[in-house]
Amino acid sequence: MTSVATLGSHCSLQVLKGAKDEGLQTILVCEKKREKLYRRFSFIDEIILVDSFSEILDKKCQLVLEQNDAVIIPHGTLIAQMTSEQIESISIPIFGNKWILRWESDRGMKEKLMREANLPVPTPVENPSDIDRLVIVKRQGAAGGKGYFLAASENDYNAKRNQLISQGIISKDEPLYIQEYAAGVLAYLQFFYSPIKEELEFFGVDQRHESDIEGLARIPSEQQLKNTKVPSFNVIGNSPLVLRESLLDQVYTMGENFVDAAKRFVSPGMNGPFCIEGVYDENAKFTSFEFSARIVAGTNIYMDGSPYYSLLYNEPMSMGKRIAREIKIADKSKQLDKVTT
Ligand code: ATP
Repeated sequence: MTSVATLGSHCSLQVLKGAKDEGLQTILVCEKKREKLYRRFSFIDEIILVDSFSEILDKKCQLVLEQNDAVIIPHGTLIAQMTSEQIESISIPIFGNKWILRWESDRGMKEKLMREANLPVPTPVENPSDIDRLVIVKRQGAAGGKGYFLAASENDYNAKRNQLISQGIISKDEPLYIQEYAAGVLAYLQFFYSPIKEELEFFGVDQRHESDIEGLARIPSEQQLKNTKVPSFNVIGNSPLVLRESLLDQVYTMGENFVDAAKRFVSPGMNGPFCIEGVYDENAKFTSFEFSARIVAGTNIYMDGSPYYSLLYNEPMSMGKRIAREIKIADKSKQLDKVTT
């Protein structure tokens, strides 16, 4: 019997609950320190205890997954804690396209794919000496906003970078990525592409709450100026958002363009869940600063179904359940290789 496996973090509860609801077996690869938390949930059939998530590469772990015909659902923690080489070397089938995860982790490749998809991206800034407007400085990979900072000039950039280095938050030789800061309403657009149905579904929208940049916005500017610490964009949680209906057509077009570009550049394409992340400005023009080529934690707010999925499904449908449904359909029609890599 096919089972669904994932790492104990990020959106694992949603993913495994969805799999159980679809009648699949569930396996959690769980760090020992978090065992107590995950034992609370009866929909988790089996827990593989590890000291660190990289043990998923060990023979012992792979054997258990193999014996259970597991499909691994990749999420942000897998990407944050493993290199692209390590992820690509996993021999257990991974849901979606494991090859595209490298494009998510590498800022240069990421920008290329977004441009090929015709997504309006913020202007990148090659050198700190070219900073002549407000920019955001990012680290490689899915760092979840930790250690990111804003800068308005080269001096500002150097001062903040040095402060973060001395605090041990970033390292001296770490390559940083600079891009123009896009102001507006944050919107993280969540999609699912089914290679079985060859159809794109729009699932929902979330907003991220990031500390301590959000906390700063709640205090008067005099106190903000006295703040000597470099504010970070560390994500703490997510909340739901619905868009003006007039924006939906463009949302689908962006999703479809992204799926098309992924098909051309990273075979077999953008299969399964993904997210296009950006901001809407005062003219409702979208600028996209990021994509995630797998399920995002922002889907956790819709564990019982999202507003847009209630238009497509006459049952509560979470992203975790949608993934499990795709696996089930693929398995029944002997097309599992179409939905995994
Ligand atoms: P993820 O965990 O999604 O992989 P990440 O570490 O790749 O995240 P981003 O999503 O690129 O990071 O950025 C983190 C946060 O920084 C965003 O949620 C947003 O608040 C802010 N941000 C990033 N790029 C921009 C931009 N160009 N303009 C304005 N804000 C931005």
